[in-house]
Amino acid sequence: MRGAVIHAPGDVRFETLDDPKILHPTDAIIRTAVTCVCGSDLWPWRGLEPIGDAHPMGHEYVGFVEEVGSEVTAVKPGQFVVGSFATSDDTCANCRNGFQSNCVHREFMSTCQADYVRIPNAQGTLVATGEVPSEELWPGLLAVSDVMGTGWWAADAAGVKPGSTAVVVGDGAVGLSAVIAAKEMGAERIIAMSRHESRQKLAREFGATDIVTERGDDGIARVKDLTGGIGADSVLECVGTAQAMQQALHSARPGGDVGFVGVPHEVAVDGQELFFSHVGLRGGPAPVRRYLPDLIDRVVTGRIDPGKVFDLTLPLDQVAEGYRAMDERRAIKALLKP
Ligand SMILES: [Zn+2]
Ligand SMILES: [Zn+2]
Repeated sequence: MRGAVIHAPGDVRFETLDDPKILHPTDAIIRTAVTCVCGSDLWPWRGLEPIGDAHPMGHEYVGFVEEVGSEVTAVKPGQFVVGSFATSDDTCANCRNGFQSNCVHREFMSTCQADYVRIPNAQGTLVATGEVPSEELWPGLLAVSDVMGTGWWAADAAGVKPGSTAVVVGDGAVGLSAVIAAKEMGAERIIAMSRHESRQKLAREFGATDIVTERGDDGIARVKDLTGGIGADSVLECVGTAQAMQQALHSARPGGDVGFVGVPHEVAVDGQELFFSHVGLRGGPAPVRRYLPDLIDRVVTGRIDPGKVFDLTLPLDQVAEGYRAMDERRAIKALLKP
């Protein structure tokens, strides 16, 4: 089979690789329907995360089950499946508590920009759709495997409620998906922070009621202006930089909550400041598996269309161009077709 391998910053190659095999009775092999490049793939691409030895890339996937191990009964060959970027057995205490992305058997997916993928913990990880969905639904279902699930977690962690006010920090695919989540959870006012016109447009389409283009102190002041001078009930931090976290913490009202889902890079939180702010803080890798059945249903019934975050479609063999386009912000998110 063929797949993407990163060798060095800015150097992703499409190479012939060994076909994945069932290694454990809990594995499944899927044939990729569509996959994509994630914003988090750009950290090593930009040289901001160590790469080490050359290794495959990709953690977002939907596909057709090819083969299952002897202990996998939940899905069978031929079915169309969606899974999370973090695999889970769905039986341990952390899974039962709804934190499948902290499963004691968790393995992070890392080989998905390829024709075929081995899925560990397949029994607990994969969710089959009722029938094979039409091809127009594949991008939306792919979004559910990470960015939509992560946006949902941001809104959940930030306690978005009907009638509340939410601020979304970040206009990447996760931030835009977080707007969808805030809308679905009933937020009445959704303030999206974005400086890019095409992304502002999509944010509005997804349910944003206000756009704030300023950043830093000006951005915080603008949010306060829009929220009666005190800040928002819920803030969804979808970037992971120090600046974005500051923006988030200072945009929440006393007693409000911040959900942070961008993988933190050099983010530090001041204990004194947090203490006196009365702001609640919760984040981490999204427990996507908890949300899969519900989110798959919302996509399949056409209630939400997170697939719109893919504004570039490429054949899988042009995966490197997907990285470049996202790095240069020519694309929000690149969809890859084997
Ligand atoms: Zn991702
Ligand atoms: Zn578990």
